[in-house]
Amino acid sequence: MGEFDLIKQFFVREQGQSGVVMGIGDDCAVLAPTPGMQWLISTDMLVEGRHFLSTVAPERLGHKALAVNLSDLAACGAKPRALTLALALPRTDAAWLAGFSKGLFALADAHGIQLVGGDTTQGPLNISITVMGEAPAGTALLRSGAKPGDDIYVSGNLGDARLALEVFRGSIGLPGEQFEQVRWAMECPQPRVALGQALRGVASSAVDVSDGLIGDLGHILQRSAVGASLDVDLLPCSAVLAAQPQALRRECGLAGGDDYELVFTAAPERRAAVQRASEQSATPVTRIGRVEAAPGLRLLDQEGQVLLQDFSSFDHFKSS
Ligand code: ADP
Ligand code: MG
Repeated sequence: MGEFDLIKQFFVREQGQSGVVMGIGDDCAVLAPTPGMQWLISTDMLVEGRHFLSTVAPERLGHKALAVNLSDLAACGAKPRALTLALALPRTDAAWLAGFSKGLFALADAHGIQLVGGDTTQGPLNISITVMGEAPAGTALLRSGAKPGDDIYVSGNLGDARLALEVFRGSIGLPGEQFEQVRWAMECPQPRVALGQALRGVASSAVDVSDGLIGDLGHILQRSAVGASLDVDLLPCSAVLAAQPQALRRECGLAGGDDYELVFTAAPERRAAVQRASEQSATPVTRIGRVEAAPGLRLLDQEGQVLLQDFSSFDHFKSS
């Protein structure tokens, strides 16, 4: 199968979305901006062995490749509009492509967005997606707006993806049903797109958790030139993770990564508005700490004691 047949068979679909003047098939996609909106654009690449395991089902991989990109739009409060897909494939595997495109399009359809272009080449498996979204001019949520006194929140649960990874690594074991549950969290993250949009005008800053809570919250602190305290024992987690020993629970919650939840800050006067955003988007949120003027991140336990463990966020360039 040639490159063009492959694109036609697996990636060209009915072009009907409003605002897409030209989708797949020309040298460029042509998109019409909605008046009064700004574009938000983000790219994430997935490399086999580093961002996903070869054991993942192609359909789940298609989902995840788009989900991690939509999570970036969510963190900025953007409404998704379109995506492009750059694929390097070791060979043309029709069953793999059918599964991958099925997972990708199911999530794209759920968010009403269209695949408008891309590139396909032979090479080691590599998936790079660019998403385009919109937000009313000046309303995008950024990492830089946190102020001393703001509350810190996180959506959903943290740590399940890391727990699943530890099972794959063989460092812990879980009963089958529990493993399937955390494996689903790792392979099928649900980007918090509705929550992100509901938080426009409410949150003072936001980031999505891809590399672990400590590291990603650290980006907010750095860009906002503030510090923070986190109540480690308030971190929301699944029943599966809650049943694990405290040290593992804390490590997965604080430094796990691959969660794709939103961490955001908001002034204490906005607590009711945060609650409304949570309800509107049917997404649970938990208050887990405070922004402070003193630089650095302090991890507090239930008694308010400072924990001294050294939690370093997962770092792609660290040898591990
Ligand atoms: P060019 O050589 O001009 O870059 P290509 O021949 O690579 O264009 O691609 C032809 C058309 O197919 C373009 O519109 C491109 O955006 C689209 N395309 C290529 N690969 C993909 C893909 N994996 N998914 C979606 N569209 C693709
Ligand atoms: Mg090309």
